[in-house]
Amino acid sequence: MDKVISLCKRRGFIFQSSEIYGGLSNTWDYGPYGVELKNNVKRAWWQACVYERDNIFGIDAAILMHPKTWEASGHIQNFFDIKKDCLSCKRWFKETDLTDKNKCPECGAGLTEGKPFNLMFKTHQGPVEENANIVYLRPETAQGIFVNFLNILDSKHPKLPFGIAQIGKSFRNEITPGNFIFRTREFEQMEIEYFVRPQEADKALEDWIESRFNWYINLGIKKDNLRKRPHAKEELAHYSKACTDLEYNFPFGWSELEGIANRTDFDLKQHTQFSAKELTYFDDVTKERLYPYIIEPSGGVDRSILAFLANAYFEEKVRDATRVVLKLHKDLTPIKVAVLPLLKNRDEITALAKKITSDLKKHFVTVYDDTASIGKLYRRQDEVGTLYCVTVDVQSLEDKQITVRDRDTMLQERINIDRIKEYLQDKLS
Ligand code: ATP
Repeated sequence: MDKVISLCKRRGFIFQSSEIYGGLSNTWDYGPYGVELKNNVKRAWWQACVYERDNIFGIDAAILMHPKTWEASGHIQNFFDIKKDCLSCKRWFKETDLTDKNKCPECGAGLTEGKPFNLMFKTHQGPVEENANIVYLRPETAQGIFVNFLNILDSKHPKLPFGIAQIGKSFRNEITPGNFIFRTREFEQMEIEYFVRPQEADKALEDWIESRFNWYINLGIKKDNLRKRPHAKEELAHYSKACTDLEYNFPFGWSELEGIANRTDFDLKQHTQFSAKELTYFDDVTKERLYPYIIEPSGGVDRSILAFLANAYFEEKVRDATRVVLKLHKDLTPIKVAVLPLLKNRDEITALAKKITSDLKKHFVTVYDDTASIGKLYRRQDEVGTLYCVTVDVQSLEDKQITVRDRDTMLQERINIDRIKEYLQDKLS
C-alpha cells in the first residue's frame, strides 16, 4: 500500500488535498494521471452499464436535494454509525470496527457509551442559517435517481425491466475514514437502479452480481483477488431483501468494492408517501399498476481505482535493476503512447518525433518526452502504465521506421512511420 501511495504522489496520480496548508486529513486530489484514470474508469462503467445495454438511461442529478428526500429515504432517522470515544487518549471509533467493544484498540483504556452519529453533511441553502433552510450533501447518488423515476417514465416510456444510471459525488461524514482513497468523506459513486417486476427480482439480482463481477475481471482484476460475499440476514439494511458485496483483496485485507442489493419496492413506496406523487408503473400487458422492485449495483469510483492500482502494481527484476510497472488495462491506463526521441540534440530527430506525436494525439492519448536518457524515459512511462513507447532515432530519418516497445513484454518492433497509426489502433481496439 505504501508503495502504491508513494507512486501516486511521485508520478502525479493522487495528492493530499490542501497540502500547502498541512493537508486536510483523508481528503485527496487527483492529479494529471489520476484524473485520466478516473475518467477512464467512469467511461468503462458507462460503456458497460449504459451504452452496451438497451434499457438503461443515464442521468446526472444535483448533489443538493429537497430535504424531504432524506426523510423519505430513511437517512435522517437511520443513517447513523455508533461512535465511542476513548476515555484516556480521546481517539474516537466506530463501534462496528471494535473487536472489544469496551476497550480502546490504541491505548487499552475504557470507552464512553456509544453515541449515534448521523453521517450526513448538513448545510444551509441561501443566506439565512435557520432550520427551514437546512439541506444535506447527498450521502448516495441513488436518491437522485428515485426522484427522477417519473421523469424517465414520462420522457422515455421504458418497459420493465429498465434502469437508470448515474455517476457522481457523495458525501459521508465518516467517523473513521482511512486507507488512502478507500474510505473518504467525499467520494464518487457509480450506481444503477434497475426496476423489475417483483417476481423477477431474485433472478435480476443474480444476473447483476455476475455482470458486475465480470466487469472487474474484464478490466484486469485478478480472479483470486475478487470475491462475492452474500450478506447475512442480520447485516441487511432495513430496506434490503438481499445483498451481495463484491470484495477485493486490498493490501489491508478483503473489503467492499461494490454492493449489489435487492431494495424491494421500499424506495418508490416511501417517496410516494412523502411526495404524494404516485411512483408506480403501468403494465400495458396485464393492465396492472405496480411498484417495481429495485436491484441496485452500487460501486465506488475511488475504491475501484485503488483496486485497479493495487492490482496493476508490479516490481520486476530486469537485468540488475528493478522495474516498477503499472500494468493497467489498456482501457484504463492514462497514457496510451509516449513518443521519445533517442537523441534530443538532433533537430531533425526531435522535429520528426514531434510531428509523429501531433499526428498520434488526434487518435490516442499521446505524450512527448525528451527530458532524460532513454532508460529513464522508459522507467517513467512504465511507472504510469503507458502502453507503448515509440522511439525515434538517427536511423528513422533514413529508413522512415520507428521502434515500438510494448509495456508488458518490453519487446520492440520496427514499424514504418506511415503504418504506426493502424498498428496502434489494432493493438488498442
Ligand atoms: P462501507 O461498509 O465500506 O462503509 P457501505 O456498505 O456503507 O460501505 P454503500 O452504502 O453500499 O457502502 O455504498 C456503495 C459503494 O460506495 C461502496 O461499495 C463503496 O465502493 C462506495 N463508498 C461508500 N462509502 C464510501 C466512502 N466513505 N469512501 C469511498 N467510497 C465509499
